[in-house]
Amino acid sequence: METFIQKSYAAYSTEDSIRLRSSSGGFFSLCSEYVLQKGGVIYGVTMSKDCYTAEYIRVDSANDLKKLCGSKYLQANLGRTFQSVKKDLENDLVVLFSGTGCYVNGLETFLSKKYDNLICIDVVCHGVPSPKLWREYAKFQESKHGKLEQINFRAKEEGWKKFGMKENHLYIPREKDPFMNMFLDDFCLRPSCYKCRAKKYRLSDISIADFWGIEKVTPEMNDGMGTSLIIVRTEKGQKLFDSIKEKLNWKEVDYNEAIRENPAEYRSAIRPLQRDTFFSDLQSRSFNFMIRKYAPDTKKIRLRNLWRKAKRIVKKIVRGGVTPKTNSNYGIFFIFQS
Ligand SMILES: Cc1cc2nc3c(=O)[nH]c(=O)nc-3n(C[C@H](O)[C@H](O)[C@H](O)COP(=O)(O)OP(=O)(O)OC[C@H]3O[C@@H](n4cnc5c(N)ncnc54)[C@H](O)[C@@H]3O)c2cc1C
Ligand code: SF4
Repeated sequence: METFIQKSYAAYSTEDSIRLRSSSGGFFSLCSEYVLQKGGVIYGVTMSKDCYTAEYIRVDSANDLKKLCGSKYLQANLGRTFQSVKKDLENDLVVLFSGTGCYVNGLETFLSKKYDNLICIDVVCHGVPSPKLWREYAKFQESKHGKLEQINFRAKEEGWKKFGMKENHLYIPREKDPFMNMFLDDFCLRPSCYKCRAKKYRLSDISIADFWGIEKVTPEMNDGMGTSLIIVRTEKGQKLFDSIKEKLNWKEVDYNEAIRENPAEYRSAIRPLQRDTFFSDLQSRSFNFMIRKYAPDTKKIRLRNLWRKAKRIVKKIVRGGVTPKTNSNYGIFFIFQS
């Protein structure tokens, strides 16, 4: 039997609506739609109704697929997902399991045998934040804006690269959001993320990532709405890619070039010296304290913006005119019940 040679692609869905609801190019959605059409089921991560936790669900209809779209930046609760996957596999259903590399490796170990009807897709990730940090942050935001009803960690209001968070209708530019800053500074990752075994040992059929650095590798595949980097690791993965490629704009790329600006594919995050203090502070201190200590720039930026906004309001009152509301740059998108 010929050995399978890993292939890498830049790709995105030909449908803009799919790309908009996805973190990068919407490749995951297309794979899922295909598996559902074949009568299969999908396992992936959604946010709970109260928006406090990320959790696995099983999806067997296209209507529910959008619940899985987009990255949720916190560790997902598995519950009895592995047992449920096994039951579906034993019942001869085609199963697409998606998640971080460590969860895919965990599932394969749990199953302890190969199933032809199982396809695993992992997201290349640099780590998952602590669920407690997310809860504290969500409560802090709710104390100011009302009940959180919807969260999008990768809102593309200002494009894919300048993504931000959208909490209900509130859009927060990434660099102004304390949670995002604590995440991107690596203070709050799970301990295993600093020594990630999945970087060297992946059991997935396909890995998907944001194609950071695309402008240097294949600029014609970058229109600012999001392009996925697809790394096909097995023959089964290649078959899936070939089955959906008609619905993609795609181009094969060199693996080493493609991952140059994406260290999350091959290197673990560096554990910051303050990580332990960060978590002991999180236990005992207020979220305001956490912002001052661990995301001071965002605090400074927010105060500066508040000052500017106050000046604008004063000017408006003095002039007696009305200025339209605008979103600033890019950020997180939240929906609160006021
Ligand atoms: C925590 C996390 C960190 C990431 N870090 C990086 C990175 O450093 N560099 C990079 O290039 N890409 C990273 N990604 C991957 C990237 O953001 C996109 O998920 C990927 O490009 C696929 O996008 P898509 O448009 O095909 O599909 P999307 O619709 O965006 O993909 C959704 C998929 O992500 C899964 N997912 C969402 N949240 C979680 C979660 N908390 N745990 C497990 N699975 C989850 C869903 O089950 C689904 O399979 C990360 C993703 C996550 C979840
Ligand atoms: S960095 Fe590694 S250990 Fe951490 S969530 Fe991602 S795959 Fe798992």
